[in-house]
Amino acid sequence: MSQSPANKPTSIKADREAGLVTIDWSDGHRTEFDVVTLRLLCPCAFCQGEGGRPGWLDTNPTLTPVQTQLVDMRLIGSYALAPTWADGHDTGYYTYEALRANCPCPTCSATRASGV
Ligand SMILES: [Zn+2]
Ligand SMILES: [Zn+2]
Repeated sequence: MSQSPANKPTSIKADREAGLVTIDWSDGHRTEFDVVTLRLLCPCAFCQGEGGRPGWLDTNPTLTPVQTQLVDMRLIGSYALAPTWADGHDTGYYTYEALRANCPCPTCSATRASGV
């Protein structure tokens, strides 16, 4: 798995008070996730399902404040982030590639929408 420079963060900040995670990328781009968006992207088998079975997030759950409260964030090697949520959920490894691919900023959203 090769990483393009665009998928390498130069700084990662988690503002637990504001509920924002800010990632600066080596190509100068900045990605800001609010914690709810981040929680909904949780890539773990429980949230997204596995082997064709739907996951918890496929049931369109109503997220409680405790489920979207960020309590900790671990770096997994040089390729991923693992947030810990206040409900104890910590099995989602968000790769930088996936975080960048899901960047919610207007520029990236427009690019994804146009299918480029
Ligand atoms: Zn999960
Ligand atoms: Zn973006």
